[in-house]
Amino acid sequence: MEESIKKDFIEELNTIVSAQDLQNLKSKYIGKKGLITEKIKNLGSLSPEERKIQGKALNELKNFIEDLIKGKEIEITEKEISKSLRKDFIDITLSGKNYYFGGRHPVNETLLQIIDIFKELGFTVEEGPEVELDYYNFEALNIPKDHPARDMQDTFYVSEDIVLRTHTSPVQVRVMEKKSPPLRFISPGKVYRCDSDVTHTPMFHQVEGLMVDEDISFANLKGVLVYFLQRLFGQIPVRFRPSFFPFTEPSTEIDIGCIICGGKGCRVCKQTGWLEVLGAGMVHPNVFKFAGYPEGKYKGFAFGMGVERLTMLKYRIDDIRLFFENDIRFLRQF
Ligand SMILES: [Zn+2]
Repeated sequence: MEESIKKDFIEELNTIVSAQDLQNLKSKYIGKKGLITEKIKNLGSLSPEERKIQGKALNELKNFIEDLIKGKEIEITEKEISKSLRKDFIDITLSGKNYYFGGRHPVNETLLQIIDIFKELGFTVEEGPEVELDYYNFEALNIPKDHPARDMQDTFYVSEDIVLRTHTSPVQVRVMEKKSPPLRFISPGKVYRCDSDVTHTPMFHQVEGLMVDEDISFANLKGVLVYFLQRLFGQIPVRFRPSFFPFTEPSTEIDIGCIICGGKGCRVCKQTGWLEVLGAGMVHPNVFKFAGYPEGKYKGFAFGMGVERLTMLKYRIDDIRLFFENDIRFLRQF
């Protein structure tokens, strides 16, 4: 009889896969009202002789069942642990996803560098409107309506009196109208000209600068601009050439030694060994007159530069249009 219980139990045990089923099986055999438990309770009705034999057999059977259940319990727990480990497994050898982060546009990067250098020299930053009155863009800068210099710039006219500013110089006039010297500021911003090829785009960025006080001379102009260029490009040679702008007198164009060929002559510097990077000059007395400053009291210098051109030289880019095509493959290189 014990043998058949044993056999049944083992058969049932082999089908068990969950901890709950095992618990039920345990109750069925050795629980409070289990099969074996009931039999042990009934031992009292047997003769002392039989009781001794049966009792021993039942106890052995109970121990046997308990041992197997304990073994099965461990087996089930281990299976469940390894199952959950498999489920939560992270393969750390898999390569990760690529994330692309945005960055500053190269033109903005150069612009911020320019602003930083001038801030070190005590210059502040001033801004003005991009849609500008003809008066501020031309007339107050000593470029009257019939002046031939107006042909130098192909202007977008909004109406007869309103233009998209062709340079950031009108900011000079607007600031001088409001403030008295000493003045020391730069005005960075977008400007517009009706022009498009490998070195021109209809919209580009300029930085204009102005320094005015009672005793500003050409030596100050040279000192500030040579310092600026050598901060931006490193220790390169700088030269000044005479030039003409309606709003400065005398006027100069400033070249740096070609950073591509080191001055030997190449395609970029057109074999001259020099690259033009800045226009500048001493503020024309007529501009001070338009600003309402007392005649002869102040002197100053002004300068202007194209941010795209400086960026092209810095990063050796040969087509300005690349800046505005928004080709991610180009922009990601910076
Ligand atoms: Zn060169």
